[in-house]
Amino acid sequence: MLLKNKGKCKFCGVEFTSQYMGRHLAACQNRKDRIAEERGEAPCGYYMLRITGTGDRLYWLFLEVQAHQTLDKLDQFLRDIWMECCGHTSQFIIGDKIYRRDPTGHFTDMESVRMREIFKPPLTFRYIYDDSGDSTEVQLAVVSYREGRLTGDPVKLLARNNTPEILCEHCKAAPATAAVAKYLGFPEPFLCGACIREQDINKYDLLPLCNSPRVGVCGYSGSRHFPEELVPDTEWAPDTVSVR
Ligand SMILES: [Zn+2]
Ligand SMILES: [Zn+2]
Ligand SMILES: [Zn+2]
Repeated sequence: MLLKNKGKCKFCGVEFTSQYMGRHLAACQNRKDRIAEERGEAPCGYYMLRITGTGDRLYWLFLEVQAHQTLDKLDQFLRDIWMECCGHTSQFIIGDKIYRRDPTGHFTDMESVRMREIFKPPLTFRYIYDDSGDSTEVQLAVVSYREGRLTGDPVKLLARNNTPEILCEHCKAAPATAAVAKYLGFPEPFLCGACIREQDINKYDLLPLCNSPRVGVCGYSGSRHFPEELVPDTEWAPDTVSVR
């Protein structure tokens, strides 16, 4: 299995590991050009965040969040791109405080705190989705802060890891094609098609391989809001769109 994984810059498409991507984003000319074009009426502070899966470095994101927004906006983004399976409770653990959110509305701690009240580089903290058993935990770091104009969404994606190719954990010869649901406690959850047939695993116990640290957990079967792979802005440019 891979231990770390490259990903792409949203602005120019260049690939780096997560260790170098923060430095690239600070220097990326395409990103500087986008920032120079910000035309919002009001000023706005922005934090850059690095988010990595716990235990490996396969899954990672760089985001930019608007400083005046409340913590639930970041929670919603993480649910949308990486986490949401069936509406579990989530929590940020920041210093000695826990901010929780339950989609059914029982806990709304995150909605009462603005990110600028608690974020400051180089703060690091944790996020746990589903604290009831099949949890997924990720680590977050506040990388930097900048001031600009208020424009766009409360949370923006700056860079994301490429979908990792995971080797079948049984034969160790072919790429895995599915994950046995983690709650079954299977010792080798990532399997190729041949090993799935050989071990006679029920198809209802299989989950798709997704570009998320929640792969194989609970009923997670991918994001409904984001493609698996980040599409850089350069690939959306009009001169690269093919016309039939
Ligand atoms: Zn770039
Ligand atoms: Zn679930
Ligand atoms: Zn296999």
